[in-house]
Amino acid sequence: MTQSTSSAAVGPLPEAVRALAEADFSAVAGRFSAAGYTVAQPADGILTIKRPGAPARASVLVSVGVHGDETGPIEVVAHLLDALSHEANALAVDLMLCVGNIGAIRAGKRFIDADLNRMFRAERGTLAGTAEAARADVMMAATTAFFDGAGPVRWHLDLHTAIRPSVYPTFAIVPELIEAGARGQLVDWLGAAGIGAIIMNPQSAGTYSYYSAEHHGAAGTTVELGRVGTLGQNDIGQFAEAAQALDALLHGVGPASAGRSPHIFNTAQQIIKLSDRFQMAFGRDTQNFTALPRGAEIARDGDTVYTVQHDEEYVVFPNPDVRVGLRAGLMVVRAS
Ligand SMILES: [Zn+2]
Repeated sequence: MTQSTSSAAVGPLPEAVRALAEADFSAVAGRFSAAGYTVAQPADGILTIKRPGAPARASVLVSVGVHGDETGPIEVVAHLLDALSHEANALAVDLMLCVGNIGAIRAGKRFIDADLNRMFRAERGTLAGTAEAARADVMMAATTAFFDGAGPVRWHLDLHTAIRPSVYPTFAIVPELIEAGARGQLVDWLGAAGIGAIIMNPQSAGTYSYYSAEHHGAAGTTVELGRVGTLGQNDIGQFAEAAQALDALLHGVGPASAGRSPHIFNTAQQIIKLSDRFQMAFGRDTQNFTALPRGAEIARDGDTVYTVQHDEEYVVFPNPDVRVGLRAGLMVVRAS
């Protein structure tokens, strides 16, 4: 497929993509409902599909569009769910689908007032009155209802695309607190999905997937699937492996154990912005997983100077422009 950087007119969006981007579930909901599932829309942008009388099924939460400008996963899931709804009986798990920041998607923006993926915690400080705080409350209530009474097998795949280039084009953040067995299965799935690197995270940054892991016992992960693109113009080919792995999961097919193993990284330090004096030693356009040597300055903030503590640390998500109190970057090291 040829890529064009011009603003040449593109055709209309495929109907399934348009519908999901607008959180219009009517077509797929109707098909699953007709196949005997219990289908509900507990809130705007949230769809649950459960098989009545089948309590042993795995419960899978798939979220897209938590950042409104990350449209690739919306396209992927739209096509996948549309196809699955035409063979509805093949759905082998209880599914909750969540289209995250509906307002921002509509506006073609990353967020309306503030980053939604920092709101999944009690402490919101000055962000308490934002549109995203209210949306996170709705999403958490629906998530609680979905996992309440669910069986022990619980997944949450929160699908994103990265906003900057990365040494590993696809990578995932996995909370360390996930029980070892479930975490191993999640890592296997991420390998099957073609994810190149996994960061083990010991501490919540207020993300949706960490919330599901911490409060609902889900094997939750934030997955970065390639680059941000415009809805309808994404190079869907870059998401093929992830789409295939997600499709298999929804069909109840486990990942082949002989799949590729992602590189595993542990978190070395979180770089927290303490004040408005915060200055990072490099810009927010720095590639994810850029290596820095021992002793190198990462940032300074008044009397606090963050430096590299290991022989080599890699920087992920550098962003000096976050609000005071939030994470301005993550430093990771290779695990063994
Ligand atoms: Zn994102």
